Amino acid sequence: MAIRRVIRMGHPLLRQPARPVKSDEIGGEELAGLIEDMVDTLRDYSGIGLAAPQIAESLRLAIIQIPDKSPGYENPEPLPLMVLINPVLEIIDPATYGYWEGCLSVPGLRGFVERPQHVKIIYTSMQSETMVLELQGFAATVLQHELDHLDGKLFIDRVTDTRLLAFEAEYKRYLLPMEAVYDSESVHH
Ligand code: ZN
Repeated sequence: MAIRRVIRMGHPLLRQPARPVKSDEIGGEELAGLIEDMVDTLRDYSGIGLAAPQIAESLRLAIIQIPDKSPGYENPEPLPLMVLINPVLEIIDPATYGYWEGCLSVPGLRGFVERPQHVKIIYTSMQSETMVLELQGFAATVLQHELDHLDGKLFIDRVTDTRLLAFEAEYKRYLLPMEAVYDSESVHH
């Protein structure tokens, strides 16, 4: 059990596609220890998702946990801790909706990102089972954010209007009060 340091934007590992977890690694002590470290790290940083590359482990592995009340996010639907090994994304409905995303690897910034809101992932569980999970809304956005990390992408790459990229304090002061305006503009069906 250990809290690991989250690497930040500029570190080349965040820009590198991660390698798949090998089947003989799943269930092994080393991978279990890494997942434990990721859970400890996520909780220590009060995050809602963490991908292995963010702690400098270039593996296709991510965890997500959306608590009832997560600081800084509007009314998220809770999601229990999920450990996703080698996840593959499928978009069920391409209609997008935008949220102000943040990232432990891009601390202090928020950016408005639109993503599909109804997706499915196929992944391997810690017990080596193939799992299918369908997610909608905010959870679908969080999932895609984490999967982007496995391909060396950051949320800032997805901000299409760079006027909607801001420091946290300025976001709260100037942009959050206008959220209703952006919301109505950001729904594409
Ligand atoms: Zn992130």
